Amino acid sequence: MRLSTARRSLAGVVAGTAAVLALATPVTATAGTTDVSTAAGSGDVGIQAVNLRTPFDCGQVWNANTRTNHNPQNSVDFQRSGALNKNVRSSAAGTVETVRNLGNTSYGKYIVVRHAEGWKTLYAHLNSFNVSVGQRVSTGTIIGKVGSTGGSTGPHLHYEQRLNGVVKRVVLNGVAIRYFGNTTITSSTGC
Ligand SMILES: [Zn+2]
Repeated sequence: MRLSTARRSLAGVVAGTAAVLALATPVTATAGTTDVSTAAGSGDVGIQAVNLRTPFDCGQVWNANTRTNHNPQNSVDFQRSGALNKNVRSSAAGTVETVRNLGNTSYGKYIVVRHAEGWKTLYAHLNSFNVSVGQRVSTGTIIGKVGSTGGSTGPHLHYEQRLNGVVKRVVLNGVAIRYFGNTTITSSTGC
């Protein structure tokens, strides 16, 4: 998405999405979602068999933007100021299936990681790669850096969760993000 739009979204997201997920207790002082394990308690219907985690450093805050005109529609654009070259981390353990550069179109530099039980995650518009095809990764392994390659006009991470080839609505550490709109996420990956 365009950087100017990203900045607008960030400005409006704190007030706009504070109550979206009705978490028990926000862990940080800022309003929003913290994907700590306590957020995925009993009765949470969003828990997946494979726990896919926020693909960023512990404690880092991102806006997860979803919108009807996104392609694929269930994709997420992770946005924040200073996004360029932030670490991108694997959402779960798995095997790197694709490391590819589409040049100035589409995903640009992107990675697909294959997880258990038919799940895959995709990370696009990367600035650089830290893994190669066939490499085994753990939850939180750094696989690349955030960039603005391909059909992107500002640094952000385009992210998809796919189950048996179908792009699903994103759930991070058992917490379903907002469709359609913005969700403030504080990564707990690797904490
Ligand atoms: Zn996108």
